[in-house]
Amino acid sequence: MIPPSILILSLLEVELLDFAMLLKLQNMETVAVITKAEPHESNTNYAQGGVSAVLCPLDSVESHMQDTIVAGAYLCDEETVRDGPDTVCHGVDTMNTETQEVIRFISKVTLLASGGAGHIYPSTTNPPVATGDGIAMAHRAQAVVSNMEFVQFHPTALADEGLPVKPNKARENAFLITEAVRGDGGILYNLSMERFMPMYDERAELAPRDVVARSIDDQLKKRNEKYVLLDISHRPREKILSHFPNIATECLQYGLDITHQPIPVVPAAHYMCGGVRAGLQGETNVRGLYVAGEVACTGLHGANRLASNSLLEALVFARRAVQPSIDHMKCSRLDLSASSCWARPVVPNSLGSDVIDNILKTTVKVRKELQSIMWKYVGIVRSTTRLETAVGKISELESQWEKHLFEQGWEQTMVGLEAGEMRNLFCCAKLVVSSALARHESRGLHYTIDFPHVEESKRLPTIIFPSPINSTWSSRQVHKLAIC
Ligand SMILES: Cc1cc2nc3c(=O)[nH]c(=O)nc-3n(C[C@H](O)[C@H](O)[C@H](O)COP(=O)(O)OP(=O)(O)OC[C@H]3O[C@@H](n4cnc5c(N)ncnc54)[C@H](O)[C@@H]3O)c2cc1C
Repeated sequence: MIPPSILILSLLEVELLDFAMLLKLQNMETVAVITKAEPHESNTNYAQGGVSAVLCPLDSVESHMQDTIVAGAYLCDEETVRDGPDTVCHGVDTMNTETQEVIRFISKVTLLASGGAGHIYPSTTNPPVATGDGIAMAHRAQAVVSNMEFVQFHPTALADEGLPVKPNKARENAFLITEAVRGDGGILYNLSMERFMPMYDERAELAPRDVVARSIDDQLKKRNEKYVLLDISHRPREKILSHFPNIATECLQYGLDITHQPIPVVPAAHYMCGGVRAGLQGETNVRGLYVAGEVACTGLHGANRLASNSLLEALVFARRAVQPSIDHMKCSRLDLSASSCWARPVVPNSLGSDVIDNILKTTVKVRKELQSIMWKYVGIVRSTTRLETAVGKISELESQWEKHLFEQGWEQTMVGLEAGEMRNLFCCAKLVVSSALARHESRGLHYTIDFPHVEESKRLPTIIFPSPINSTWSSRQVHKLAIC
């Protein structure tokens, strides 16, 4: 057992390391920074557009605020809500993936910065680490979760199946074709080379992300096709190559010259606007638990994130969490006895390698099935019937998977990377479906054909309260949630 004063899971790179430095400078005992994979494997490392800021004299903070509120479909909390803390976070259990050793950290403060949950969908721009672990962990730790129905799909990720030469291996995360291509005059066509965006919105290709994603989704469904085409080849070759060098190089590797040919694109899950509900200083309803970055729902993004606001939000909230964390550490005592409050996880070595291989193979299959259910029934355009179908299918899939694990001798306290991610993916998928079912209107990123309009009376966040303490490792508790 290692007792740091503060535990950071995981890294908003510069800002969190700054955070750690600040605490060290104040002689605050130990700080542990935990991450799941290589430090560069994070959404932060893939960010392309940068951080929004007001730099131009013609711009103003007020207009940035207004843009944020409009993009957020008027659901942004101008002051985020605080729920009085009633439970305490004592730290986390972790597994060293190199040595397979389980290490329990008991800490006064835990800051979750574990990113989003893009991998609940089959196609996502997020790296493989984005399996919603932080949201699921916080949910199990009795934290309030909010706005999970608002999943942002980027309209234009590279559609590998439309490339002249197919990649040898399926990509773990979709390659993003930046919006700047549309901003620079890129035109969207269906596979019959019909320009379709003007039929959906007078702003055509320059319509906001959610409108473009829905329009593409409609074309794909109506025409039963797998991708659409984004053409920039009418622009001068040297401009294309100087504005989009990475896209040009990536496509050329697969036999596609973007200065002559259109790019096959498809929407992909990109950003989770919902997450662990946080106050203005990153605090949650669980004492000692702070959140920053995509895992958090601060209310800033409302129902739809304004592009480039996420890094800004992450930096601001990580910084804001410093002082309350220090205050909390000063006035609380490290409760080492908490270590006996919950069962210690064990690595399933006793099961033998054949059994573990079998479980891993099944888990890979189940993960794909869950992703396909989410894309088919909880995608860009939703309906009550499809969401209800998803509830049934996810529940059945999860029961079958847990039954399989049980039959193989898997015990409740056993842990493994793939199994842990699977449980967290199930948990986040169910949080998205429950939240989507609870919203009887279409707002921002949540669009349902059964309630196609914005309803002023429903301009409230979706709040998922924790269920009574569940001592098992199962993620099924979400079915019992009260949602308002
Ligand atoms: C392709 C792409 C382009 C983008 N472009 C922009 C942009 O231009 N501007 C902008 O503002 N936003 C952009 N975004 C969104 C933005 O990058 C993310 O919202 C932001 O980086 C999230 O930061 P984070 O620190 O919360 O999560 P991440 O940067 O994803 O970091 C999460 C960390 O937590 C670790 N972790 C996860 N689970 C566990 C676990 N169980 N145990 C231990 N560690 C764990 C991971 O290993 C990782 O290190 C983009 C996103 C993508 C995918």
